Amino acid sequence: MKGDIGVIGLAVMGQNLILNMNDNGFKVVAYNRTTSKVDEFLEGAAKGTNIIGAYSLEDLVEKLEKPRKVMLMVRAGDVVDQFIDALTPLLDEGDIIIDGGNSNYPDSTRRMKDLEEKGLVFIGAGVSGGEEGARFGPSIMPGGNPAGWPAVKPIFQAISAKTDSGEACCDWVGREGAGHFVKMVHNGIEYGDMQLISEAYHFMKEGLGMNHDEMQATMTAWNKTELDSYLMEISSEIVGYRDEDGDIVLEKILDTAGQKGTGKWTGINALDFGIPLTLITESVFARALSARKEEREEAAALFQHKIAPVEGDREVWLEALCKALLAAKIISYAQGFMLIREASEQYNWDLNYGNVALLWRGGCIIRSAFLGNIRDAYEANPDLKFLGSDEYFKNILEDCMGSWRKVVAKTFEIGLPSPGLSSALTFLDGYTTARLPANMLQAQRDYFGAHTYERTDRPRGEFFHTNWTGKG
Ligand code: NAP
Repeated sequence: MKGDIGVIGLAVMGQNLILNMNDNGFKVVAYNRTTSKVDEFLEGAAKGTNIIGAYSLEDLVEKLEKPRKVMLMVRAGDVVDQFIDALTPLLDEGDIIIDGGNSNYPDSTRRMKDLEEKGLVFIGAGVSGGEEGARFGPSIMPGGNPAGWPAVKPIFQAISAKTDSGEACCDWVGREGAGHFVKMVHNGIEYGDMQLISEAYHFMKEGLGMNHDEMQATMTAWNKTELDSYLMEISSEIVGYRDEDGDIVLEKILDTAGQKGTGKWTGINALDFGIPLTLITESVFARALSARKEEREEAAALFQHKIAPVEGDREVWLEALCKALLAAKIISYAQGFMLIREASEQYNWDLNYGNVALLWRGGCIIRSAFLGNIRDAYEANPDLKFLGSDEYFKNILEDCMGSWRKVVAKTFEIGLPSPGLSSALTFLDGYTTARLPANMLQAQRDYFGAHTYERTDRPRGEFFHTNWTGKG
């Protein structure tokens, strides 16, 4: 009996996805460039399963049922192209290549088009959830050539995470690089969520002077509110986690954040599309700033920078902080969906935004209760331009507004950096201001560059120039 699907790449993600597929009754053929890892896998984690090993690409292709489905779980970038080039002559018309790595979406668009010309079908699928998600149910965001979806759907929907009501956190996203685009924005939102929680921890620790048990109790309580999410859950565990000496591990971790690039890609795309994705982009910059540790230490000494304590009732502040966090999180998702919407319109992907929220409802790093409300918002109004305009979210934003302003104002007053919380508030203030000072910008542009401007007292589309200096 031949295999249902072949997986190339036996690192963390590949191995766990294969075991997950095997648990769900699919026969998987496993291959890795370093073939000794095939034997290690078969004799180790895959022992006693129906998983078959392959020791060359020819061997892999030979062992697969047609149309063949070959999934790449290898390092993103050139390695994916190298495998596609090597596989192409071995495959037959209609065979399917799936790239499940963190590829940049224009690469997926290019690969889909190239392979379509060669009679092969390409699917670029974002996979989220890390090792545990891959093993027990990831969120999967497949896009590319829709001709491949019927053959891949039963496997992907079986292995994916499920919502509480049993819906698969995997459905067709759209053509070309749409799957990887949505995965990229997912990762950007992940940057934002992580930054906001980190700022809340900073406020509690430095501003309110709370100890780790108190912070843990607070975060655990927050996780029972609308902030219920995987990242809040793990943060509450992290904040109280002690090593064998009884010390808090978190306080021994160097404060320099790493990044692999998907947050940066999200920011670059936002700039390219002209979408004000301020919170995610600030979160990328916050990581970049944190990485300049030595410079910060020098500047801290030079400026004698100290964070002042927050005065007043701690419980009142914690309630305000919880509300600030929730409101900023809504803005982060609202901005993320603005970017997805823009890409969908520019590329004619015809994305279903409610479906995107459903894909993230389980299995992935940003899974949270509130994605169910985002799905409801887009189901009620598929053309929703700004998530915050939906009644449910608008009510929360209005309810949280006073607390949010109070918290952000306090961070400025005590010298505690709050790029996520504050940029989200500034965005909302800008977005809800009918007349911004951009008239001054336009006047300046016209003054020094004769860039012209439109007038409030004339129809849009008519452009005017003023001779500001009176010179000829
Ligand atoms: P990885 O460390 O990104 O890649 C390791 C795999 O790539 C191995 O099979 C390795 O083969 C192969 N590889 C590397 N360089 C190669 C080359 N020059 N030629 C041929 N093969 C090469 O593995 P991973 O962490 O499991 O991730 C797989 C993909 O999923 C990546 O795109 C990653 O970004 C994405 N992803 C990862 C996570 C996560 O939590 N780790 C989560 C979501 C998505 P050898 O064993 O022969 O070196």
